[in-house]
Amino acid sequence: HSPRSSRAHTSCRRRGTGRSPRRAGVHPARPAPTGTRPARRNGTRRLGDIVASWLYCDAEGRALFRVVKLLGPDGKTFLQQHPAGSCANHADDPEPCKPAGNGWRWGRGGAPYALYRLPELIAAARDAFVFAVEGEACADAIVGLGLVATTSAGGAGKWGLGAHEYAEALRDRRVVILPDNDRPGADHAEDIAGSLLAVAAELRSIILPGLPFKGDIVDWLRVGGNREQLLALVERAPIMRAPSEMFPRAVDCRVLDATGISA
Ligand SMILES: [Zn+2]
Ligand SMILES: [Zn+2]
Repeated sequence: HSPRSSRAHTSCRRRGTGRSPRRAGVHPARPAPTGTRPARRNGTRRLGDIVASWLYCDAEGRALFRVVKLLGPDGKTFLQQHPAGSCANHADDPEPCKPAGNGWRWGRGGAPYALYRLPELIAAARDAFVFAVEGEACADAIVGLGLVATTSAGGAGKWGLGAHEYAEALRDRRVVILPDNDRPGADHAEDIAGSLLAVAAELRSIILPGLPFKGDIVDWLRVGGNREQLLALVERAPIMRAPSEMFPRAVDCRVLDATGISA
């Protein structure tokens, strides 16, 4: 974080819940960009324009925050915004967060953590597979197949920030973890597994065949993968009973700690 962005965020702290020991201290909100359009910058990084956004809602369908994707000369950046007027953490200090246009302010504004597409998840059949993927675009791709999918804001490495809320939302569900095909994706899958093992009705993790390095479900669908193949992979995947069963390469104390199971 640049000094400027850190200062901008001090008025807008998140609540101190659901933070895993492993991820303690990881800052949930990305730095707010300085200035206004067209010179949208983050330090020296030129952010560019918003090219996509994904809304996160609470269980009742009220908007909590959204993730926006910006595309600029320096590449793509993902940031969070909250609705103007909904700041959870500075009721006495109306809207000190920087305006982001169109009724949004930068940062998550202290909004509680919630899984992406939470209202749909709650409304889905109790025995439906719920795909826990990495990134909103991947969740949307699976929803496009007529299936149930979710993700956590922030991507790989950020599950722990809302792990408690996420686990409650996925309690007694049949969860299928579908990570991106890279090391952060594998670590992310472990984080999810560790947090859900004790609460999910069933827990699986699948690897999509033929996926390129860093590839994901969007890539897999693009080269011909389909709903039937995906569901066949799920049916064939073993149900996890212990972290080491699913991730034999990793006898990982962090995962064991997260589940409360001692080694
Ligand atoms: Zn705010
Ligand atoms: Zn993805």
